[in-house]
Amino acid sequence: MSLTYDELLAAITTPGGREVRDPATGEVIGAVADSDPADVAAAIATAKAAQPGWAATPDARRRALLHEAADAIEADAEALALLLSREQGKPLNGPNARFEVGACAAWLRATAETPIEPEVVVDDGTTYAELHYRPVGVVGAITPWNWPMMIAIWQIAPALRMGNAVVAKPSEHTTLSGLALVHVLDSVLPAGVLVPITGAGEAGAALAASPEIDKIMFTGSTATGRRIVESTAANLPRLTLELGGNDAGIVLADADPKAIAEGLFWGAFINTGQTCAALKRLYVHDSIYDEVVAELAAFAAGVPMGVGTDEANVLGPLQNAMQFDIVDRLVEAAKADGARVVLGGEPDRAAAGYFYPTTIVADIDPAAALVVEEQFGPALPVVRYADLEDALAHANALDAGLGASVWSSDRARAREVAARLQAGTVWINSHGGVDPRIPFGGVKASGYGLEFGVDGLKAVAVPQVVNG
Ligand code: ADP
Repeated sequence: MSLTYDELLAAITTPGGREVRDPATGEVIGAVADSDPADVAAAIATAKAAQPGWAATPDARRRALLHEAADAIEADAEALALLLSREQGKPLNGPNARFEVGACAAWLRATAETPIEPEVVVDDGTTYAELHYRPVGVVGAITPWNWPMMIAIWQIAPALRMGNAVVAKPSEHTTLSGLALVHVLDSVLPAGVLVPITGAGEAGAALAASPEIDKIMFTGSTATGRRIVESTAANLPRLTLELGGNDAGIVLADADPKAIAEGLFWGAFINTGQTCAALKRLYVHDSIYDEVVAELAAFAAGVPMGVGTDEANVLGPLQNAMQFDIVDRLVEAAKADGARVVLGGEPDRAAAGYFYPTTIVADIDPAAALVVEEQFGPALPVVRYADLEDALAHANALDAGLGASVWSSDRARAREVAARLQAGTVWINSHGGVDPRIPFGGVKASGYGLEFGVDGLKAVAVPQVVNG
């Protein structure tokens, strides 16, 4: 039987706790109790006690339970989506809350169906050696506030599949979404294999520093990633770090401005720009620059932004005041430098919600802060280039290397350019699409380790050679 929104909220909210507000309206929607160090230790102990039994559970049973977890999410999808929309701000419709909840179920199923077998590495008549992938133990899953359910599933599903127990810490900005997801998953999982904790950086740091934790899956900022590396130095848990990006897109001279406008828009503005692998700086060849900017702005102007629970909207507010201030500061600096605001750029600072309008900034200096800093919001800088070598140099100049894209009518040419971009994924004529079968991860300061597919399963396992 599926839960109503009120039932779901009642199961996870703590009356009298820290207030949670809807970023679109400022209304209080619930309250959370933050874990103290003793709570974190207790959660880890619970997971540790449950892990051997889970590791001994046959893989076929674990896979079946992942499918049952997906069924449970589908049964409660509307309540989950409404909570996600109200806490995170993203609209119900478009590639947003309902889409995210659907992706959670799809990821659980795909993870259940990903084949992983021992590999025979030598079999020459004299030597026989196999490589097996054993459970790591207890995985700490630390997640951000932009895709609070989907990114949690990206960490939880493979960890469970491989026989690990998980302690999950949602972002302090989207605690209810994280708790709601775990609540639904735990309705089918054996007790103790998935345990939530709450709180901000201190709770995350306590998890990362615990000697009982064997692996940390982390998605968040590069600065926090560095802190996690430091706090894990004593115990050496394995790490997968998916850190910030500042993805470049390069539009080649032969691209069709009208045909690419919609793809460029969603590549940049999905989740109102609050996505790790979103297009955050666009380099367009001079010969089609004005046309690309005009087509993109025309498309963008027609995309409705507003309160997420209004079925018409597909763009929402920024999730929090901190993020609003970053976007506002970067756009104001670009204006002061003489860049041309083609669309948006004038937020209503007195509004109840953290709405920043869809903004496109043209004729901007490639060294502007809006280009070289990660804006993580609905403000796209479009840089003009004449020589592709310059565009590549700019694209590769930053320390970030999560995703990138090349836009062209000539696939072979686009692939040549892709090979020269320093990024974990290069998309051609799209940007940011992820797929549970395709490995995903960053280079440079965007982190290390792969998620998804067989590589993602191996990342939450320890390799063991059986020789003989
Ligand atoms: P963002 O700026 O996107 O919120 P953060 O890196 O600050 O990214 O946060 C991502 C996650 O990391 C959140 O769950 C946050 O509470 C957690 N976190 C913050 N500081 C630490 C830390 N020192 N150790 C472990 N986790 C942390």
